[in-house]
Amino acid sequence: FLEIRGIRKEYGPVVAVHDVNLEVDRGELITFLGPSGSGKSTTLYILAGFEEPTRGDILLDGETLLATPSHRRNIGMVFQRYTLFPHLSVGENIAFPLRVRRWSKADIDARVRRMLELVRLNGYEDRKPAMMSGGQQQRVALARALAYDPPILLMDEPLSALDKKLREEIQHEIRRIHHETEVTILYVTHDQDEALRLSDRIAVFSQGCIDQVGTGPQLYAEPATRFVAEFIGDSD
Ligand code: ATP
Ligand code: MG
Repeated sequence: FLEIRGIRKEYGPVVAVHDVNLEVDRGELITFLGPSGSGKSTTLYILAGFEEPTRGDILLDGETLLATPSHRRNIGMVFQRYTLFPHLSVGENIAFPLRVRRWSKADIDARVRRMLELVRLNGYEDRKPAMMSGGQQQRVALARALAYDPPILLMDEPLSALDKKLREEIQHEIRRIHHETEVTILYVTHDQDEALRLSDRIAVFSQGCIDQVGTGPQLYAEPATRFVAEFIGDSD
């Protein structure tokens, strides 16, 4: 479905991503797990089209994505501090990507209601983001990202600013949404418990490469490198 092939990204002398290769199945939830500076976010930005790779290609259904500008890629995004449009209400925020896509008013209204239900924020439609908690805002960001039914959703540590209870609640919602919509999700975290709870497979990043991709139990049982063994074994 989605294929990341030999991606490299240099910023002057800094090599942010060395050589990332990954095949993702449709509907999969894959987490990028790895220490700070290992190239997780950079890889996501390249997928989103915010950055161009120095080398390599990204294929979606066999066709390169790199020629498509960011706003045409149909990829939903939620980042750590994904700011909602502060002057727009919750409902208008969620409607925004639908207006851009010229949906009819009736379709937009129905969709906004459906998305508010999905993130359990019924009744918050007319609120301004500033009047909501961080977790609620993050759920609105999630609703907005999913509103037009993108085949792919990228999330870069979307919950790291939230407290434990809220984090677990929203993790639960992400799993439910993933289950209900079958969207393909690439999810960056450096929290391995979160990775184990959420994902179908984990891609372990180290120094700009993916050392290994597998389910949690696979990574535990047969770590491909010493780094994976030590990183995954860390919390024991
Ligand atoms: P974290 O967990 O801290 O978010 P990360 O795995 O997301 O880390 P990246 O943000 O992808 O890591 O960065 C990978 C490397 O590339 C780091 O060493 C970083 O300093 C470097 N880097 C990232 N963006 C730039 C940039 N715009 N200019 C120069 N170097 C950069
Ligand atoms: Mg990052």
